[in-house]
Amino acid sequence: QPVTVEVGLGDRAYDILIGSGLLSRAGEEISRRLPGTRAAVVTDENVAAAHLDTLKAGLDKGGIQSTVITMPPGEKSKSFAHLEEVVDGVLAARLERGDVVVALGGGVIGDLTGFAAGIVRRGMNFVQIPTSLLAQVDSSVGGKTGINSPRGKNLVGVFLQPKLVLADTEVLDTLPIREFRAGYAELAKYGLIDRPELFAWLEANWQKVFAGGPERARAIAEACRAKADVVTRDEFETGDRALLNLGHTFGHALEAATRYDGARLVHGEGVAIGMALAHRFSSRLNLASPDDAARVETHLRAVGLPWRMADIPGELPDAEALLSFITQDKKVSRGALTFILTRGIGQAFIAKDVPASEVLSFLRENH
Ligand code: NAD
Ligand code: ZN
Repeated sequence: QPVTVEVGLGDRAYDILIGSGLLSRAGEEISRRLPGTRAAVVTDENVAAAHLDTLKAGLDKGGIQSTVITMPPGEKSKSFAHLEEVVDGVLAARLERGDVVVALGGGVIGDLTGFAAGIVRRGMNFVQIPTSLLAQVDSSVGGKTGINSPRGKNLVGVFLQPKLVLADTEVLDTLPIREFRAGYAELAKYGLIDRPELFAWLEANWQKVFAGGPERARAIAEACRAKADVVTRDEFETGDRALLNLGHTFGHALEAATRYDGARLVHGEGVAIGMALAHRFSSRLNLASPDDAARVETHLRAVGLPWRMADIPGELPDAEALLSFITQDKKVSRGALTFILTRGIGQAFIAKDVPASEVLSFLRENH
C-alpha cells in the first residue's frame, strides 16, 4: 500500500502517493480524482525508454486515453522552443481545459510540463509522476514550474499546484547512481533544515534507502512531508520557504562557476558541497559547533557525494570570482547577503545581513 501525504492548500489540496508499482495504477488514481479526463503525457527519451510502456498500460487500465510528447533529456529542454512544442502537442491532441497534462520524468520535465499546463487554455489539470529522486523529494511538490532564460535559470514560469503526485519508488532503480546521489543531497537537506531525527536516521539507514525497499519509501515520504509543511506555510516564498535554499547559495555559485557543465557538477552535488560549506561557515561565525559541520561532511562523504570545493574536477575560479557569482544570485538585498545558516543539525535559519567580507575570507580559506 502506498503512503499518502496531503499538501493542505485548502480547495487546491492534493495528495502525494509514495510507493512501488504506482505507474501501473496511475489510470485508476487519476480517474478517481479527475473523472472522464484524457491525458497528454510529457516525458524525455531516457524515461520513455524505461517506463513509458508501464505508464501507458496503467492509464489504459484506468480508462484514460493518452497521447505522448517526448522531449530530449537534459536542462536544455527548459526553453521557450520546447515549451512551444509541448503546448502545440497538447493542442494538437485536442485536449480540453478539464483534461490532464501529465509530467513523467525528472525535474526538467516536471518544470517544463507544469508551466505548459499552466498556460495552455489558461490552465489545465496537471499531474506529476516524478521519476528522479530529486523530483520525488523536491521539484514535483510545491507548485513551482518554469523554464530558463538565456539570462538565468528558472526566470520564467508560474506557480501551479498539481492535482496529484505519484512517486513510484521502483522507477528509481533505473536512475543512474550519480543522479540518485544528487537527489539524496536534497533529501538530507530536510534533516539539516529542521528534522534532526531524520538526519540521524539517514546516517544509520542510507544504504537501505539506496538499495530500495521500505526504507526508501519511508525516506521519500518524510521528505515530502517536510516539503509539504513548508509549502503550506509559505506557498509563494515570502518567508519560511527560503529555508529550502539551504546549501543553494554556495551551490548555485559553484554551478555557475563550472558553467552548468553536468560532467563536472550536477545541481544536487552543488547543493551537497553548499550544505557542507553552510555548516562550516556557520561554525566559523561561532553560530554552530565544528562537530556538526564535521558530521555533515562525514555523511556526505560516506554516501559518495562531493562535500568540498576540491572534489570538483578541473580548475575553479578564485574566491573573488566565486563571491561575484554569489552576489549575482537572487538572494541579495542592498549589499548585505542573505544566507541560510545554522545553529546546528536541524536548526537552519535565514540570516539577512551576512557581510560579504566574511564570505570572502571563508571562501579563501576553503578554496
Ligand atoms: P533531470 O530531469 O534532467 O533528470 C536527470 C537525468 O535522469 C535525465 O537525464 C533524465 O532523463 C534521467 N532520468 C530521470 N528519471 C529517470 C529514471 N527513472 N530512469 C533513468 N533515467 C532517468 O534532472 P533532475 O535532477 O530530476 O531535476 C533537475 C531540475 O529540477 C532542474 O531544472 C531544477 O531547476 C529543477 N528543480 C525544480 C524545483 C521546483 O521546485 N520546481 C526544485 C528543485 C529542482
Ligand atoms: Zn535544489
